[in-house]
Amino acid sequence: MAANTKLTETLKINALVRPEVAGLPAYGAGQTLSQAQMARPSVDMVNLSVNENPFGISDRAKQALEQAFADAACYPDSQCLELREVLAEQLPFELERIVVGNGSEDILSMLCKAFIKPGDQVMVAKPTFSLHPIYANMMGAEVIAVPMSADMHYDVEDWLRHIRQAPELKVLMLANPSNPVGCTLDHQGLTACIAACPLDTLIVIDEAYFEFAQQDETFADSLAILGAQSHPWIVLRTFSKAYGLAGLRVGYGLVSDSSIIDYLDRVRTPYNVNRAAQSAAIAVLKDPGYLQKTCALVSEQALWVRAELKSLGLFVAPSQANFLFIDCGRDACQVAGQLLEAGIMVKPWREPGYEHYIRMTIGLEQQNKRFVRALAQILQGD
Ligand SMILES: *Cc1c(COP(=O)(O)O)cnc(C)c1O
Repeated sequence: MAANTKLTETLKINALVRPEVAGLPAYGAGQTLSQAQMARPSVDMVNLSVNENPFGISDRAKQALEQAFADAACYPDSQCLELREVLAEQLPFELERIVVGNGSEDILSMLCKAFIKPGDQVMVAKPTFSLHPIYANMMGAEVIAVPMSADMHYDVEDWLRHIRQAPELKVLMLANPSNPVGCTLDHQGLTACIAACPLDTLIVIDEAYFEFAQQDETFADSLAILGAQSHPWIVLRTFSKAYGLAGLRVGYGLVSDSSIIDYLDRVRTPYNVNRAAQSAAIAVLKDPGYLQKTCALVSEQALWVRAELKSLGLFVAPSQANFLFIDCGRDACQVAGQLLEAGIMVKPWREPGYEHYIRMTIGLEQQNKRFVRALAQILQGD
């Protein structure tokens, strides 16, 4: 009887939910480090699965948090004015054209809610950050996914072909550098893709790994490219990766015109960025040493890990981010499961065509050594 009632209720809910939502996968965030650690008390666990900063929070950000907690009874600034002022000065960029979100994914979500209606065409990469297609699908978009080339680069010719075949393209959305691949679209490629879009296509460049890629002076300067053309655009960046604040949730967007932000404000939850996040983000922006230390570690260690994997005979995709996308030559879920037992969390890719790939975040030297040793053992073990 009880089971029957339950079934009827489920059916009723199915009929109530929007069909776009019913068809969505939930974001696969995976388990936390402490959950994985609790399940394996005898192994020293390390999380190389979510591209976090291996140094942990910066000391200055930690100090700023103490003040923020003292004021926790008060609402935060809904406009994130002080943080936007610091960003405006450092970038430099016009204050009115900066938007802050509860992570950059919050801005992505706002953008899709405000601009995408059912049937709109949204072009994304494949594989890509899963929220790009998920948020577009949430709004009922027709998602067009352009695959990476066989050697794991952005295939500019293929993007141009897809863009030409989508005369009504509403949004072009891509991550530069790519997640999970790490490859980048260069100045020429990015310029060509934007130029090929219909004049009213909204260009969304997700630069979650900008700080790492920027070390290479040939990395495409999206603000310069976008500023020199007339499509509407937004560039997304985050404090979660190089700035080491993933747990606080804060990211920002730079837009072509402040009217885009006027519309985002209408779908934004008013206090979307909490006090702790705003204070810590300001502090870490004023701590250039932390960012330099992080980027130096990542570029040095990425070279080392890449060389080690190459000597194991593995293909590693090109990467200008703080992670590597590695072809294990066999089922990635199985490899990730074995690495987990060895104390190392990585992200196995599940998308058809990429099931042999794991994504591994560059960690501290000792963590990377453990990863390479464990992977070598797993792959040579049978
Ligand atoms: C990590 C990541 C984000 C999300 O960053 P948050 O600011 O933590 O929401 C967005 N885009 C890409 C490509 C990412 O890898």
